[in-house]
Formats: sequence, structure tokens, C-alpha cells
Amino acid sequence: MAFTGSQSLRLGIQQQQGAPRDAPLHKSVASAHRRSRCSRSSFQESRHGVDRINWSSGGFMTSKPLRLSILQKQQQRRQSSSVIVRADADYYSILGVSKNASKADIKSSYRKLARQFHPDVNKEPGAEQKFKEISNAYEVLSDDEKRSIYDKFGEAGLKGAGASGAAGFTNPFDLFETFFGGMGGMGGMGGMGMGGRAARNRSVQGDDERYDLLLNFKDAVFGTDKEIEVTRLESCATCNGSGAKPGTSPVTCGTCGGQGQVATTTNTPLGQFRQISTCPVCGGSGESSTPCNACGGDGRVRRTKKISLKVPAGVDSGSRLRVRSEGNAGKRGGPPGDLYVFINVRTDPELKRDGNNILVTCKISYIDAILGTSVKVPTVDGVVDLKIPTGTQPGTTLVMAKRGVPYLGKTNMRGDQLVKVQVDIPKRLSSEERKLVEELASLNKVKPAGSR
Ligand SMILES: [Zn+2]
Ligand SMILES: [Zn+2]
Repeated sequence: MAFTGSQSLRLGIQQQQGAPRDAPLHKSVASAHRRSRCSRSSFQESRHGVDRINWSSGGFMTSKPLRLSILQKQQQRRQSSSVIVRADADYYSILGVSKNASKADIKSSYRKLARQFHPDVNKEPGAEQKFKEISNAYEVLSDDEKRSIYDKFGEAGLKGAGASGAAGFTNPFDLFETFFGGMGGMGGMGGMGMGGRAARNRSVQGDDERYDLLLNFKDAVFGTDKEIEVTRLESCATCNGSGAKPGTSPVTCGTCGGQGQVATTTNTPLGQFRQISTCPVCGGSGESSTPCNACGGDGRVRRTKKISLKVPAGVDSGSRLRVRSEGNAGKRGGPPGDLYVFINVRTDPELKRDGNNILVTCKISYIDAILGTSVKVPTVDGVVDLKIPTGTQPGTTLVMAKRGVPYLGKTNMRGDQLVKVQVDIPKRLSSEERKLVEELASLNKVKPAGSR
């Protein structure tokens, strides 16, 4: 379903580019696809839809050759959808609007008339013909470019101006579905979903999902491959994400009357407040369906998936890894959210991490501090010899270069290990030791003060 999601996303972009003429096709394709009525022809349509979307992102409005091929495709499409066009129609009077009607007027008029004459509702002879005329008129008048051509040259102008042959109209049922929100089942029975707004196509991006991962100290330092099990919402395979039981058709939501929204009025000391909120019954889709048994109507099911995760070297507690598109599936075919893996790192009994440096404390005897020595020090690379120079002062920090943690994303760069030297001064001495130290003391007294 990520496929349909990206379609809707691109759709938004395309509409901004000012191509409303093609937009309805994409939308209807998306909804046809989603309804899982996967007949051969709807599959082909969806492929065209994808092609066209790709072009549009490259700006097809400015590119003549591309535009031609689009028209050719439309022509192919039109031939299969058998649209009847009257010889000379007055689009304004068909829609019952004036010549200077606003886009909103045209839209609302189409909305009213298309519902009224849809052959599924209106069984009068000629209703279908009228429905198609309304659709064609709307298609032309709702498109600024086509409308201005039509205003200047009439219907003939549209034929000449590249709208191809007998004017390349969208299948009126597709247009209707797009306009009213992909009401599945329009082609069939009387399961009327009239009044639904374009809500069903309003896909919703899925939520991000969080996973907490506890790592061993050294796995965080050097990176590791982990297989994690994530439980999140996936698109339901049974209903293809639609939430409707396969083979059934959605009907208008009784609670919101297909509007997808409900208004509540609250009386407060300051007056009446009217609040519009998403319909709790249909979730804003404006329609209710016989719920799919597998997902209970949500279109998504909770599933556990194993995900191979590559934890990069250098992560630390608080690091967050983003795994694209592995979050929860979107509603109504919306794109999935992302998976965020929150890292937590176990502490090490000897090594302490300070960013990319490792802090270690090393205890040596006062004699080793005086004379110098070599000690074995734990590092992330294992135990390493460290030279303690002669005369090392208590509290000295020795640097073991590049024995620290690799930098995240720059694994050839590493921090250092900082070794703090503690000098152990014995609290008790054997009598022999005492004798030797006293000897040392008397030796020291001979020397003038501060000559050390
Ligand atoms: Zn389902
Ligand atoms: Zn509702």
C-alpha cells in the first residue's frame, strides 16, 4: 500500500502545478486500486496513472512531447470507456451557471446535478446521458485552460486545441468517484454512497513506531547487526487496506451523513461554541462498510515483523536510529510511518564512556609511580600494555590515543582512552619497609629543600 500512498502524495504536488485535468484520473486510479477490484483493466489504468505521475513530477505542463503522449494515453483510455459527447453543448447551461460563474459555483452545481442524475439513483430514461453531459461540462469549466478555450472557440476549439478527437473527457463515472471520494461500488448495485466527500481518498500517513533496543557496551562501540521483532500495524492483506469486507460496497455513514465530520454545540458562560470534529463512527471517511473480518474494518492488522537492523559503530544511550517506512501502515492506503529505534547501552564494569572517549582509572603503587612501570589496562580492544612514566604524579591522566569509540558515521576516526592514575599509598608498612622508607627520608633530608 505504500504504492498508493506515494501516489496520493505526488497528487498533491501535481495539483499545485495546475493540472486538475489529469488529477481526477490519478485519484480514481488510486481508489480503484485500493478497492481491490483488481480487474485487468483497472490494473492497466493504474499503470498509466503511475506513468503520468512520473512525468508530471518532471513538469509535463511545459513539455510538449510528453503532453502529446499523455493525450494519446487518454485517447486509448477514452476508447474503452465509451463517452458520448453531444455535438454542440452549452456547458454553462448544462450546469445551470452563468458565463461568469466562479469555480466554486461550478463545483457546487456539478455536485448537485451529478448526484441527481447518476444512473444508479436516477432510473429515468436519459439520466445517464444527462449525467455524462454534466460530467463533461464540469470537466471543461473546472479547468481554467479548457474553459478559456471553450469561451473563445466553443466545443470545436477544444477539439482543435489538443483535447483530441471528440474531446478527451475523463470517464464520467471516474470523475464522479473522484469528486465524491471514491465510493466503491458505484458501478454496481444500489448501495448508494452519495454525499460522501472526497474523504475516502484522504489517506493518512501511518504513525511512527518506537522500539527500545538494549545493547552491550562493545556492540554500541563497534556496531552490530541485530534482528529485532517489531509489532506494528500493517496493511491488511485480506481487504487490501480498505477495511471493507471483500465483495461488499461501502455505504454512506449514517452518523455524519457522509460528510466525515460532525458538529457539536457546547453551551458555555461565554456563549455557544460549535465545534467540528472528525466523525467518530467512520473516522472521517464519510462511509461505512461491512468490516473486513481480518482487520475489523481498520484496513490494518497488528503484525510482528523481524527486521534486520544494522547498528552503526559509535551509538550511545539516547541515540535514535530511523528505519524508513517500517512504522505503522497508513490509513486508507496512506504511507507508513517510520520506525525509530531508541538505543540504550549497558554499562561496563571497567570502561566508562564519555562521548567518544573512554575513561579508565588505574591504580599503581607509590613505588611504580616513582620508578615507572608498564601496566595492563582494559580497553575496548581488549587488554593493552600502558607505560607509566617515571615520576608519575597522583591524579595524572595518561592518554591512550585512538583507543576510544569510533565516531558515528566516521568509523576511521576514534576517540581516546583517558587513564587516570591513582597512586596507592600504603597505610601500613612492614618493619622492613618502614626501615627502608626511613632511610630514604634521611637521604632526602641531606639534600637542600626544593631540589627535587
Ligand atoms: Zn482487512
Ligand atoms: Zn461518519
